[in-house]
Amino acid sequence: MADGFAQSVKQQADIVRIVGEYVRLTKGGAQSFKGLCPFHKEKTPSFNVQAVQQFYHCFGCGQSGDVFTFVQKMENISFPEAVRTVAQKCGIPLPKREFSSPEEAQASRLRSKLLEIHEQACLYFEEQLQGPEAARAREYLTGRGLTAEAITAFRIGYAPDSYSTMRDRFQSGFEEEVLRGSGLFSAKEQAEGGSGTMYARFRKRITFPIRNEAGRVIAFTARALDNDEKAGPKYLNSPETPLYTKGHVLFNLDKAKQAIRQFEFALLVEGQMDCISVYMAGITNVLATSGTAFTEAQVRLLARHTRQVVVNFDPDTAGANAAEKSIALLIEEGFSVKVVTLEGGLDPDRYVRERGTPAYIAALRGARRHSDYLIERARTLFPPVTPDAKVKALNFLLPHMQHIPSRIARDEFAADAAQKLSIDSALLRQELKQAAFARRADVRPKSSSALGWSEAEKLLLRALMLPAGQPARELARQRMTEEPSLYEGLAASALLSAFLEAETISNPFDLAPDESSRHLLAAVLMNGGQEIQTQQVEDAFHSLRHSRLERRQRELRRSLAEAELRNDSATVQELMTEKMALDRVLRDG
Ligand SMILES: [Zn+2]
Repeated sequence: MADGFAQSVKQQADIVRIVGEYVRLTKGGAQSFKGLCPFHKEKTPSFNVQAVQQFYHCFGCGQSGDVFTFVQKMENISFPEAVRTVAQKCGIPLPKREFSSPEEAQASRLRSKLLEIHEQACLYFEEQLQGPEAARAREYLTGRGLTAEAITAFRIGYAPDSYSTMRDRFQSGFEEEVLRGSGLFSAKEQAEGGSGTMYARFRKRITFPIRNEAGRVIAFTARALDNDEKAGPKYLNSPETPLYTKGHVLFNLDKAKQAIRQFEFALLVEGQMDCISVYMAGITNVLATSGTAFTEAQVRLLARHTRQVVVNFDPDTAGANAAEKSIALLIEEGFSVKVVTLEGGLDPDRYVRERGTPAYIAALRGARRHSDYLIERARTLFPPVTPDAKVKALNFLLPHMQHIPSRIARDEFAADAAQKLSIDSALLRQELKQAAFARRADVRPKSSSALGWSEAEKLLLRALMLPAGQPARELARQRMTEEPSLYEGLAASALLSAFLEAETISNPFDLAPDESSRHLLAAVLMNGGQEIQTQQVEDAFHSLRHSRLERRQRELRRSLAEAELRNDSATVQELMTEKMALDRVLRDG
């Protein structure tokens, strides 16, 4: 690419406007703007853009450069591609294309062909939706409350029930490499090395294009029209391609980003249908994670536009779990998060359709702080009426508290939780500290086994903390009483005997005899929560018996070696007998 062209683009491009498309900038000085750096994690802006000298610099991570370097890094593209991208953004006509290497030219050519085939496919599906075969698809969409306007805006289409129609149509316009690379077709590979015939991946499905931040179609998600087994999965997505990486895209970001900046928050929903309904109702700052918990890549993508999120996932268990995971990730990245729970157990799509936009906006206004939501959820999952349930509720909340980067916010959360779960708040703060310690310790590989903190001991501790009468607890108490030698000398033995002695455990930390027991107990509480089967208790004792025998075996080897050195044949004989018996037991399990 001619340097002259790059120079001319640079002169015409305004770095503040171009960077502003990726990073939310606010005026910092007379000629400078600042925002949160897109190249490193930060909570206060240290990323600066100079309007006069036309460069950016981050005081946090030291990255700096001009408009081209910026676009190159953000889009992960080469310099010539960055020049072209900036030129396009500024409406400057492009000269004929040149590349620095044949590979680069090839990759770039494939990318643009893939974009083209996706655009063509999108048009094709849209056209098919108007055809006679798509009557049922249209009926379904109407039934889901999608207007013609929504269908046009989101470019919803229909993939016909045919293996070959789409292929035949596209084969003339695109090379085999592009057809294969697009993910729009599948190929049955033939056994004898020859290339198999290609067929349409999406058949008899309603298609929703997935667009990148620039609004280009890069993949599809397609819903089966039939529910039977033959129809395959309910939703089928494009595979990963040079254009599309799963978990790196936020559905509707291209349409929503303007409004997200304007309203200074993003509304996060689970499904595409939710997203479309809410968007069409006029709430345009809405994004969908597409049915899963947030990924780190998505969080970083969103962080370029806002640090405030309102989460409105489905009220079912899967939705609640996805919401919890997403909240944890967002909080860790310094986002402020609020959560909406809709009345009547409705998802956003149905709520908007049944109750109307004003009601939904009212619900959004009533969004609760994420800490309030989580405390409420802990109270629902483990009603804090018994000491044991309080421990469980606490156990549920502790990891979330730890994710909060700000100490003040963390303490506030802890104080609220203490109050609402009726736990002594000083104690809770103490446990939070211990848990933080345990988490740091957990980062080191195998730290728990280095401490002799075996899975069996952890399980027994958890079993003993169950409410009286629970089969797993009673079995553990019985076995421990029968075979006290089994847990003697273990890292947890002091805790285990304290737990065995206590009739009820209101606060397990009260029973921890020393500092290290407290750390270990915190680690157990962090990971507990699931039910315990009596079989697991039996297995734990089995493994304790086994490891006791192994300890004895090691002792025997040492003693044997010593006895042999001393030429003490009587002792050798005695030890050998024991060792052989022991070997047999260990071998037979
Ligand atoms: Zn930085």
